[in-house]
Amino acid sequence: MNRWWLGLLIVCTVTARPAGQSSTAVDWTAVEAETLRHFQALVRMDTSDPPGGEKPAADYVKNVLEREGIPVEIFALEAHRPNVVARLKGSGRKRPLLILGHTDVVNVDPKKWTHPAFSADRDGGYIYGRGTVDDKDNLTAALMVMLLLKRGNVPLDRDVIFLAEAGEEGATKIGIEYVINEHFGAIDAEYCYAEGGNVTRERGAVRFASVQTVEKIPNGIDLIARGPAGHGSVPLMTNAIAHLSKAVAAVTDWQPPIELNDTTAAYFSRLAEISPPEQARHYRAVLTGDAKTVAAADAWLRENEPRHASMLRTSVSPNMIQGGYRQNVIPSEAKVTLDVRMLPDENPERFLAQIKKVINDQSVEAVFNGWPPTTTGKPRNGPESSIKSEAFKVIEAAVTKHYQTTTLPTMSTGASDMAFLRAKGLQCYGVGPATDVEDGPKGFGAHSDQERILETELYRFVRFHWDIVLNLAGRSQ
Ligand SMILES: [Zn+2]
Repeated sequence: MNRWWLGLLIVCTVTARPAGQSSTAVDWTAVEAETLRHFQALVRMDTSDPPGGEKPAADYVKNVLEREGIPVEIFALEAHRPNVVARLKGSGRKRPLLILGHTDVVNVDPKKWTHPAFSADRDGGYIYGRGTVDDKDNLTAALMVMLLLKRGNVPLDRDVIFLAEAGEEGATKIGIEYVINEHFGAIDAEYCYAEGGNVTRERGAVRFASVQTVEKIPNGIDLIARGPAGHGSVPLMTNAIAHLSKAVAAVTDWQPPIELNDTTAAYFSRLAEISPPEQARHYRAVLTGDAKTVAAADAWLRENEPRHASMLRTSVSPNMIQGGYRQNVIPSEAKVTLDVRMLPDENPERFLAQIKKVINDQSVEAVFNGWPPTTTGKPRNGPESSIKSEAFKVIEAAVTKHYQTTTLPTMSTGASDMAFLRAKGLQCYGVGPATDVEDGPKGFGAHSDQERILETELYRFVRFHWDIVLNLAGRSQ
């Protein structure tokens, strides 16, 4: 039997069901009220990271799950920063599905918040607070899905595993890395869904849905120029700052080669279909493979849509500079730090060699600086998750059903915890609720000083999340 019909064939109420019966029918009005309750409770907890104090949120989630009869495991490297894992058993016909959200949030500057950052105030159709779109939305949606599966006694082809992780915003060693290194058996799965995608609304209308299937690898390179120190009144050709400046200019003038993967090729081709002709022309040009056409499109993207230009290549951005300590002393050393976002299949050593060749100056050293730190000392790097998988098709169908729009498989230029899971063999997909594209520039986006979510979109996201889990993990016959 097709899974899509499962919900129609098994109909009874979610509550007060005789033992053994199951149902996927849901009273959405009641679910919305309960979603709001859990969401507000979680947003009201200050789980700022650093310093990180996710325990109240972890305890809350644990209690909600246990009250429902869902067994919970706690994994904590630091007692005040626990990770919560819960599992609903399936028949084992298919390998498990992992759904996750993080309990920590980035810091706030309380002075800048009209609605206090941990108020979860409702105003004008929005809910305000740190974490409303990063990531207590995903956390709450995944929690609600677990409750509904359990209450409906829904037969499953695969285990559904829930993870509320700590430390996503900068302490992966106590969060995802710890759970993977020490308790991987508890979260090992075929697929996972987490933050990292979203549905973009423009002028109040849905424009497209982004589903993250891969991400660039964050990395850092230090350029260090060295030369003899001296008196500033006697300029030297070996001046470290002068050499470093030329090196930085050479690196930023250079454009690393363009390379597409399955995700970015599908992204630009689908985006072209839903974009005005002027933009669509450039997206299609990127796909032609013709060097001159691609270069012209790339030049346009670099100027007008820098995020899209970054999706085409390993990118380099000089973001910190140090050198010299007084005006009349020629410094013996100067340093620039490059933020490097590598394509997933980039070879780091080869890339570093290319950088050295571009700089072409023996007095300037180029070295990896170990950023961002990981427990292994190696950069996080997970392969692309397939856009042909069952999990991706299920998401696409749910996008069509709930948002009536195009799904764009997306490579994030930024990093998420999914890279660690992908590296362990899970196929992971980033999803998220609908947000207004106008909200970011107005200062209402993730990590901003007035983070907010449209209440109706939180509820639609729960329904969307429920459908994808039901259709991927629910019994197919
Ligand atoms: Zn997040």
